Amino acid sequence: MSPWNKEIWRLIWLTSLALIIGFISDYTLICLLIVSIGYIIWHFNNIKRLEKRLNKPGKTYPPQGSGIWADIFERIFQLQKQNRSRKKKLATYITRFRESTAAMPDATVVLNRYDQIEWINKAAQKALGLQPAKDIGLHLSNLIRHPGFIRYISLKNYSSPIELPSPANELQTLSIRIIPYGQDQRLLIARDVTRLKQLEQMRRDFISNISHELRTPLTVIHGYLESMQDETGESLQDWQENIKMMRRQSSRMQHIVDDLLMLSRLENEDSKQMAHEAIAVPNLLHIIKDEAAILGAKKQQSIILECDDELTMLGTQSELYSCFSNLVFNAVRYTPTEGSVTMRWYQDQNGAHFEVQDTGIGIPPQHIPRLTERFFRVDVGRSRDIGGTGLGLAIVKHILERHNASLDITSKVNHGSTFRCRFPTESIIQQQKTVIKA
Ligand code: ADP
Repeated sequence: MSPWNKEIWRLIWLTSLALIIGFISDYTLICLLIVSIGYIIWHFNNIKRLEKRLNKPGKTYPPQGSGIWADIFERIFQLQKQNRSRKKKLATYITRFRESTAAMPDATVVLNRYDQIEWINKAAQKALGLQPAKDIGLHLSNLIRHPGFIRYISLKNYSSPIELPSPANELQTLSIRIIPYGQDQRLLIARDVTRLKQLEQMRRDFISNISHELRTPLTVIHGYLESMQDETGESLQDWQENIKMMRRQSSRMQHIVDDLLMLSRLENEDSKQMAHEAIAVPNLLHIIKDEAAILGAKKQQSIILECDDELTMLGTQSELYSCFSNLVFNAVRYTPTEGSVTMRWYQDQNGAHFEVQDTGIGIPPQHIPRLTERFFRVDVGRSRDIGGTGLGLAIVKHILERHNASLDITSKVNHGSTFRCRFPTESIIQQQKTVIKA
């Protein structure tokens, strides 16, 4: 029988007893009252015992009870037991998590929804100069004052890490990443990337130095080859073909060195320090169009320019020339005879766009993601034949990054390609329109 049924039977039994005694003694109401008060006192007493036992600290055992109360006591203490073991498990997990994160070589900081510090590991104390005794509960941006970090934390865009000098040691570079988890909690992980940065810088310096060193001897060799080619004397007559080939190769090497130097300059210069100026892009595009027409003259290509003549933007003239001309000259070079190359310069709600569309050989889809890698060429032989260095699109990518712009490439083999640069709306110079009142 269920406890409730038992309790109802008990009540029926007590009421019947009170009625019988009342009937015999002629005090029915008083008997019923005495039984009811007794029943209430019994319940009250059980509630009191339960409350006392629940308030007792530490591990307690259920009080002895009868009727429905025996069942209630048993259930409550079972739940308490389950709760205790769940708490114990959770505490073990937390201790294990803390021990493992504390032992992690990366600096780890647990932040709450207001970016206040909740917990830090040993590595964070060293790398970020944080002290648990003083800094727990403080807002992280009060302790890491680097402007880049303050921007990173306030924008709340944690998709990529940020690199900055360690607040504890200027010579150390940290890569900091914030990972949201749980209910509005955040985990900050900082990794020491000083060695990686040094290696990267060494690689850049090496390329830049070697390109500088090669430049002078190459210019000398190229100059001599030029004079030898102009030489009309009989002694060099048989060598003319070889000299021509050597000249072509030395000029190709000069182009590679120039492109490498340009790339290392783009990589080494801090784009944030760059002073952008107002660029009349339409004028630039007219110049590039004329140069492209000369480059593709032999192939009778039509070079078209569709341009918003009012649209100007902030940027660096030499870099934008390099970027646009690389894209246009590539289109001319990779488009066969009688093809067409269309340049477009326009604005929409997403920003300003420079687009080069050609009817050329196209690019297989699997190669598109790799086009901006240094020395990547779809067809090495073809690129070399037309004087390519394999560095043009790497330069384009760097220049666009320095202008906060992006590159989008669509292509279909044997139908043509479209390279589209998108510049942010903030780069556009809004023209002042004067309204003349009649
Ligand atoms: P390259 O000096 O070889 O042209 P780039 O970096 O400018 O080097 O381009 C990389 C590769 O991308 C080229 O070798 C070529 O295979 C491909 N490519 C670039 N532009 C075009 C285009 N408009 N049409 C077809 N292929 C192209």
